[in-house]
Amino acid sequence: MLDSTYEIGLGNNDLKTRSDAARDGIKFWETQAAKLYWFEKWHTALEWNPPFARWFVGGKINASYNALDVTVKKNPNKKAIIWEGEDGTKRELTYQELLSEVCKLANVLKSLGVKKGDRVTVYLPMVPELIMSLLACARIGAIHTVIFSGFSAKSIKDRVEDSKSKVIITSDGGKRRGNIIQLKDIVDEAISDLDFVEHILVLEHTKNNIAMTKRDKKWHELVASMSPICNAEVLDSTHPLYILYTSGTTGKPKGVLHGTGGYLTHIYSTFKWIFDIRDSDVYFCTADMGWVTGHSYIAYGPLMHGATQIMYEGALDYPTPAKIWEIVSRYKVTILYTTPTALRMFMKFGDELPNSNDLSSLKLLGTVGEPINPQVWKWYFKIIGKEKCPIVDTWWQTETGGALISPVPGLETIPLKPGSATRPVPGVSLSVVDEHGKEVKPDSKGYLVVTNPWPGMLLTLWGDDEKYKTVYWTKYKNVYYPGDYAIKDKDGYIWMLGRADDVLKVAGHRLGTAELESAFVSHKAVAEAAVCGIPHEVKGEAIISFVVLKEGITTTMQLKEELTNHIRKTIGPIAAPDQLYFVKKLPKTRSGKIMRRLLKAMAKNEPIGDISTLEDEASVDEIKAALAELQQTLDKF
Ligand code: ATP
Ligand code: MG
Repeated sequence: MLDSTYEIGLGNNDLKTRSDAARDGIKFWETQAAKLYWFEKWHTALEWNPPFARWFVGGKINASYNALDVTVKKNPNKKAIIWEGEDGTKRELTYQELLSEVCKLANVLKSLGVKKGDRVTVYLPMVPELIMSLLACARIGAIHTVIFSGFSAKSIKDRVEDSKSKVIITSDGGKRRGNIIQLKDIVDEAISDLDFVEHILVLEHTKNNIAMTKRDKKWHELVASMSPICNAEVLDSTHPLYILYTSGTTGKPKGVLHGTGGYLTHIYSTFKWIFDIRDSDVYFCTADMGWVTGHSYIAYGPLMHGATQIMYEGALDYPTPAKIWEIVSRYKVTILYTTPTALRMFMKFGDELPNSNDLSSLKLLGTVGEPINPQVWKWYFKIIGKEKCPIVDTWWQTETGGALISPVPGLETIPLKPGSATRPVPGVSLSVVDEHGKEVKPDSKGYLVVTNPWPGMLLTLWGDDEKYKTVYWTKYKNVYYPGDYAIKDKDGYIWMLGRADDVLKVAGHRLGTAELESAFVSHKAVAEAAVCGIPHEVKGEAIISFVVLKEGITTTMQLKEELTNHIRKTIGPIAAPDQLYFVKKLPKTRSGKIMRRLLKAMAKNEPIGDISTLEDEASVDEIKAALAELQQTLDKF
């Protein structure tokens, strides 16, 4: 798996944090929590009634106070958000300005009858008002629930019905690749028979005509008469901060509920350790606010540290495929945090685009969302980071709140191994176990589990404690089961191999999807690949693979054979795919994750289930056509 290691750091060498964490995990997290602003200190660090963890019980805190007021008191004119619209419009907001806007909006929400504990759905494009909406809810103790602005009316309806939101915040429209998405119309359709929604608050953004009823209120009209002061509600540490539905890669999205004090402690600490944030940094996370990455490492993490960050409204390759590199160069971005799927797209465009932009401001690179293929890691390291930036591969989930596995260059320099997220962050204990929960030997494959509660841990699934227990706590007793397949190597490094449900069982061998897909991606002609297994009488499972080639490469029988041989050579004859299809697109979630369950269902001729989070239905048709071809071949036997 490993052909090279990279020892590169930021010159930090704080061994104490890790040793403190190892000595007494709970005391360690208390020391971290003390770095936040508390109205009142907690009396109990952790109440652990498995599987329910409650952190810093008795403590009183407010997320928006920590994200805004703390910096405003020290440095009110520090730039918080530098925003660029898809059409090139620019806006900047200081911490003081952001605080005033958040307070006005919080007062608007109060005037609309929103009270502590009420849910507010936020369905906005990537504009600063999206961050304001989260913080305004947090300020008054309302629970925000953000829905990605690309989702359909049906997806909104399901989520609003589940969360019973009283108010929905949206805008007249959202811009996407030169088009306007009619967000307000979509919301109207979604809630046409949901009586409990009392108001829709509409931000003017694209200025296109929209229908307004008595129920609907214009953001700028209400905000205009509001005071820019709104005291932050003094909330229990365990008060719910938000509900966020998971990406839906493996099934119907789950409504993950996060608390306040523990969650903020986790985010504050990991943001500092992983990104080594400094006052002069310009941070750019390319995630959408509709994903947990946006919540933790755009909204709360950077703001709690008084960081300056870039927010871009559009797609990273629009209006030009070099857009992301132009942003890095224009704003002298120092920290870039993106996804393997975006990196594979940039790689596909070639080296010329990043090479012709000045990327010399970068000091640290990050990735999240899927296992990063070693080949892609090396490209990121060499072409983007010019071999001087550490890469932080951060493994985590909506449920974990913040990163659990990642290099922590803010604390220590350790050798990086391309494709491994390295080790758990301080204060987190993990293990890789077999079916019976027994730790496997180093270098063997197994299921990742988290053996201790951690502060960013979800409170439960919204309104469904039973499902919470079943999904995460039933496979093993009293350890958290994330549902991912992994290896812990001899050095204690974790290698994520893909979803446990997607593991292929071929002739007695277990293969993680990431192993196979990375083997494909290591071939120079391949941009992306996805694999799945279907039942096979002799071998147990047959491997079906879908391959996207790099720009300008033509599909030939010869290339098919070459790729099959490449897999034979890199993993072994056992892994040679039974079927290999060239496709133009893979089915992905809107957050860019490959939806292998769809491939598998289609390959097995089963219903494809919930696809509300699918990015592009055209990819499904293409895969269906490829599979129909397979079916015809099989029918001949
Ligand atoms: P659902 O639970 O609804 O199927 P999802 O799991 O895709 O959706 P997220 O919480 O957004 O929703 O994704 C978390 C998952 O993403 C992890 O369980 C893991 O499989 C994958 N993942 C995230 N970061 C990494 C990483 N750095 N390396 C490997 N896998 C990662
Ligand atoms: Mg998940």
